[in-house]
Amino acid sequence: MASTSTTCAPERAAELAESLNSVRARVTAASRDRSPTLVAVSKLKPASDVQGCYQHGQRDFGENYVQELCDKAPVLPEDIRWHFIGTLQSNKAKTLASIPNLYAVHTLNSTKAATALNKGVPDTRATPLNVLIQVNTSGEDSKSGLPPLTTTSSSELVDLARHVVTDCPKLHLLGLMTIGSLDASLNEGDENKDFETLTRTRDLLQEALRGSGADGGRWGEDGKLLLSMGMSSDFEAAIHAGSAIVRVGTSIFGSRK
Ligand SMILES: *Cc1c(COP(=O)(O)O)cnc(C)c1O
Repeated sequence: MASTSTTCAPERAAELAESLNSVRARVTAASRDRSPTLVAVSKLKPASDVQGCYQHGQRDFGENYVQELCDKAPVLPEDIRWHFIGTLQSNKAKTLASIPNLYAVHTLNSTKAATALNKGVPDTRATPLNVLIQVNTSGEDSKSGLPPLTTTSSSELVDLARHVVTDCPKLHLLGLMTIGSLDASLNEGDENKDFETLTRTRDLLQEALRGSGADGGRWGEDGKLLLSMGMSSDFEAAIHAGSAIVRVGTSIFGSRK
């Protein structure tokens, strides 16, 4: 599958440049002020595809499988910012945390995994590892993540956020991530109820963190938790709803096997 040759054929490089341009234009058009970070989701695509996008200025890439990321990261440029967006298993946390240019883990969903990640971050790492807590906004059994918030009172999500902020000095709580159901976009046009749920959950979590004296600086960016939401089918709706990080695979690389 993931060949370690990083040479991108000229025709493929041109194809990737064109799809990247088109996605970037759509991201910009959907944004009001600050454009969100575009993460190019390269799972199941060869390292040469990543290199092709890199040549066209792309630096943020997303991967779902620890082994695949461990194969790709060492053969690709060091200034790539890798985002782990797959299911996080505590027993793989150490391997994952040891990747020097891992920028963020979007799928944190337990204190056990947070502790394992914190322990796995090498002492040589210059900056804390960003983590986002995954929220199951659609409530579907097929999606992982913690339940969204309806109040600021104690819950699994608030407890996990506090654990990261107070007990995991090598981690930085950057924000919240969700996948959301496809139907939420299809049924209500631009208003996606799952994205609204993540926004509301973020506001409540910020309140809970401030109320507990877990002050800013230890979490978020400029005093705000960031939202990672939006994929090929719904990234424009996600940006309208306030997403700071969109994760786009198919619209850049084409369909996966
Ligand atoms: C695969 C994946 C994506 C990208 O999905 P596309 O529909 O190909 O854009 C985004 N987020 C997560 C969590 C994924 O697993």
